[in-house]
Amino acid sequence: MKAMVLEQQPGRLISKELPIPVPGPKEVLIKVEACGVCRTDLHIVDGELNRPKLPLIPGHEVVGTIVETGSRTHLRRTGERVGVPWLFKSCGVCRYCRQGNENLCEHALFTGYTADGGYAEFMTANENFIYPLPPDYDSIKAAPLLCAGLIGFRSYRMADETAGERRIKNLGLYGFGAAAHIIVQIAVAQGKEVFAFTKDGDREKQEFALDLGASWAGGSSDMPPKPLDAAIIFAPAGSLVPKALKALDKGGILVCAGIYMSDIPAFPYELLWWERKVLSVANLTRNDGYGFMEIASEIRLHTEITPYPLKQANAALDHLRSGRLKGAAVLIP
Ligand SMILES: [Zn+2]
Ligand SMILES: [Zn+2]
Repeated sequence: MKAMVLEQQPGRLISKELPIPVPGPKEVLIKVEACGVCRTDLHIVDGELNRPKLPLIPGHEVVGTIVETGSRTHLRRTGERVGVPWLFKSCGVCRYCRQGNENLCEHALFTGYTADGGYAEFMTANENFIYPLPPDYDSIKAAPLLCAGLIGFRSYRMADETAGERRIKNLGLYGFGAAAHIIVQIAVAQGKEVFAFTKDGDREKQEFALDLGASWAGGSSDMPPKPLDAAIIFAPAGSLVPKALKALDKGGILVCAGIYMSDIPAFPYELLWWERKVLSVANLTRNDGYGFMEIASEIRLHTEITPYPLKQANAALDHLRSGRLKGAAVLIP
């Protein structure tokens, strides 16, 4: 099969011909139809996340069809279309797993990081950690749901759950890329008012946010017209933390959604005072996956994608790095 492989960090992906992997016990072999390109892939290729398996096939927003099942597989069958997310497998026995926090698992494997992912024609995955997809999304459009959508949803749900009775009405989204463009649609459908923050002066992304239902869009240095009950930072820039705190109302909640962020600059305590909270989101649980797929089947989410042939994965990563992409890049084998 054809695959794009990372052999060293930092590095470029190399196009290779590899044997089709064989599914082990509880695993399935998936013929990849589409694989989204996530910012995390960029952090892996660039060496900011520095413990990958090597050589590695990246990619954790995978949509494909099961073409073979391994031994002791009983949940999934051939012909079924499934999605593979970032959490490839959790151990099920560590104290985090036993508490229902498998996203914090000590021994987890992550798709396209510590296990081979979907920048290939085929991949294997554990049948317990993959999801059937709502039928009315075609595979290319569904790919960004598997990480941008899912991790975005965990961040969004964490803000809601932390707010509890107080309820979030005004929500800020910092960094208007693949995740924010999905979450804005859910937030608006659930009656929230969304304020979108892009790089200062990025008119095109601001227009895009307004088109998708944001009621206001501006640069990250701008103050929103109303104080925010919560904000989610999707961009990997620590400098956004004090900016977002400044825009939060008393008791407001700030969720940092990324797996990697540059250093957060020092800021006056006054910005955190009045019970403002700063939280981070790590990975996802299967519960998030099922919850999100349910919402994706209720609300018809529009995903803005730019398709690339698999062998142009390096170009897709370059375009993500330079901020040229509107929505999400998706590789097609
Ligand atoms: Zn565990
Ligand atoms: Zn991702």
